[in-house]
Amino acid sequence: MNVVNFRDFGRGNYKQLDDYAFGSGGMVFAAPQLKDALNSLKPGFVVYPSPQGVLINQEIIETLAHQEHVIIICGHYEGIDERFTEKYIDLEISIGDCVLTGGEIPAMLITDAMSRLVPGVVGKGKAVIEDSFYRGMLDNPNYTRPATWEDLEVPEVLLSGNEKEISRWRRREAIRRTLTRRPDLISRASIREYLSEKVSVAIKIEDSNINLSGVVELCEAYKLGRPFVVAHDKTLREDVKKICPGAKVLGSFRKVLEKSEGNVLIVKTSGGAVINSLHTLEIKRRCLEHDGEIIFVFAQNDSGLDELNERNEITGYLYERDIKIPLDLQIGIALDRLLGNRN
Ligand code: SAH
Repeated sequence: MNVVNFRDFGRGNYKQLDDYAFGSGGMVFAAPQLKDALNSLKPGFVVYPSPQGVLINQEIIETLAHQEHVIIICGHYEGIDERFTEKYIDLEISIGDCVLTGGEIPAMLITDAMSRLVPGVVGKGKAVIEDSFYRGMLDNPNYTRPATWEDLEVPEVLLSGNEKEISRWRRREAIRRTLTRRPDLISRASIREYLSEKVSVAIKIEDSNINLSGVVELCEAYKLGRPFVVAHDKTLREDVKKICPGAKVLGSFRKVLEKSEGNVLIVKTSGGAVINSLHTLEIKRRCLEHDGEIIFVFAQNDSGLDELNERNEITGYLYERDIKIPLDLQIGIALDRLLGNRN
C-alpha cells in the first residue's frame, strides 16, 4: 500500500489544495491538484469514498479485490470538485448513511475488508468463506472456552465432537440469524451450501423431445442429486433409460416421493396455475426454513404437475409469463435464480 500526501501537489506558497465552493462557501478540493496527484500514480481503478456513493457491501469489496490497482481518493471538508468526480472517479462508495470529516477512515475500512480476501491474511481460508456476507448470508454465532461462563452454557452440540451435527447446527444458526436479522440479504444470497444434502430435480415428460443430458449436467453443476425423470408411458421410460443413463426414471411423482425420507418440500416453478404463486425471494426463504429434503419439480406440459397436491408444496413463477421457454432452459433459470452462486 502506498500513501500519497495530497499536500505535495498543492499550488503556490501555501501549497493550496482547496477553495471556497461556488454558491455555498464550504471548502472543496480543487480539480487541477487532484488531477496532478492522480497523474503521479500508475493508472488504476479510482474510488472516491463519499456519502453519496453506493452503499458498501461484500460484493463491492470482492470486485475491488480483483482489480490490479485500486486508488482511493480521500475527500475532506465539503468534498471534491464534481467535475473531477465526473471525469476520473470510477466508483463512489459510501460506508453508511452518516457523514464523516474525511475519506481516510472509509479508505482504511475498504482496504481492511479487501485485505481479508488476500490469501494468507486471515489464518484459515475456510473461515473467510463462512464469514458473514461471503455467500450473502450472516455467520453462525461463535463460542470459545470456558464451556460454562456466568451460568451460560455453550450449545451442547458444539462440544459433542460430531462433525456432521456441528456443521448442520452451524448451517441452521446462520439461516436463523439471516432470516430474523437481515431477511433482505436472502434475495442475493447463494443458498445451496445452507440447504440439506438432498436437493433434487424431478421432471415429468410426455415425449423425449427434451435435452435431458443438459438437465443432468445442470444438476451436477448445482450439486444436486441425479434428476428424476417421470414418465407414465412405459416405452418412453425405456427410451429415456437408454438415452440418458444419468437420470432416475420412474412412472409417477408418487414413486419419486416414496424414495424420500418424508419431510420433503416440493417446489413447483412451471406449469399451469399461477394462483398463490410466490416471489423468488419467498421461495428461497421457504427453502432455507425447511430442514430436510427439497425437490424442484417441472413438467413438459401445463397439466403435468396436477398429480402433485401435497401439503408441503409451494409454487413460484420465475419466468416471463408470456414467453414460452424450453423446459431445460426453464430448469436452468430456476436453479440459477434459486440456488445460483454469485461468486
Ligand atoms: N458535502 C459532502 C460531505 C463531505 S464529507 C456531502 O454532503 O455529500 C468529507 C469527506 O468525507 C468526503 O469527501 C468523503 O471522502 C468522506 N466521507 C464522509 N462521509 C462518508 C461516508 N458516509 N462514506 C464514505 N466517505 C465519506
